[in-house]
Amino acid sequence: MVSDGQFVATSRNEELGGRDAYWFLIRDFHPLVKTCDDGVEIPLLNANDPLIPPVETHHCLGHIGEVPCFTAELPIDFNPPEDMEFINLRPLHAHVGEMLWSIAGRAVQIVDWARTNRYCGRCGVENTFSLMDRSLRCPDCNLAHYPRLSPAVIVLVQRGNEVLLGRSNRFPNAFYSVLAGFVEPGESLEQTVSREIFEETGIRVKDITYFGSQPWPFPNSLMIGFTATFAGGEIALHDDEILDAGWFTVDTLPNIPGSISIARKLIDWWIVGQRGSAD
Ligand SMILES: [Zn+2]
Repeated sequence: MVSDGQFVATSRNEELGGRDAYWFLIRDFHPLVKTCDDGVEIPLLNANDPLIPPVETHHCLGHIGEVPCFTAELPIDFNPPEDMEFINLRPLHAHVGEMLWSIAGRAVQIVDWARTNRYCGRCGVENTFSLMDRSLRCPDCNLAHYPRLSPAVIVLVQRGNEVLLGRSNRFPNAFYSVLAGFVEPGESLEQTVSREIFEETGIRVKDITYFGSQPWPFPNSLMIGFTATFAGGEIALHDDEILDAGWFTVDTLPNIPGSISIARKLIDWWIVGQRGSAD
């Protein structure tokens, strides 16, 4: 699919009106896509298209050029028309590219948030959508329910020309990656970095430096990337989360994650630095 311009996100809902829009229609965490000759694409639908659910379920996500992007939930028993199908979020990346994939990840999370926050968690009254921001408000006690995000740090630790990688029990294909962990309430991100690396591997780190971030919809995460330098310790695995960990050079790298993730961007950044310093 060809789209002019970049995606500009919005946190305020707006009405579809009579506009054509990209529709990220979600059934149980899976976007509905149109099948085409070379794969699948996000459907661009006319405002009168019968696929579009009732207006009270619409969420505007933003715009690509002049074209709005909307999401809504489809019922669990919805059967797609012949030229459409539901797709898992991960394989969608290869079909639609980074921008549309990240909008789809956003859509899945917004729909999940709306579905799981219909009633106030404090007093049980049915929430209503705020017109001011992306929140559900209790009309009785005024409690605001925002989409839930779970921030996690992801850290590349260097020691000389080596990098610290671990194999997690969550990685199905037994690849090695930089280490990651969720932020605890009351922690700064730097404190999370120090704690996680020490808890998982027994290694102390210093020079903790921000690298970049990535929304990660599996589910509701925000990955915040850092680099750090070895400051002491021997590798000692403390829990079942990391099955194996070690120091690797560019020449001894094991299987590493695919290009979809910030983990791979961190490792690629490190490889480029190693090649540069070897010249
Ligand atoms: Zn309430």
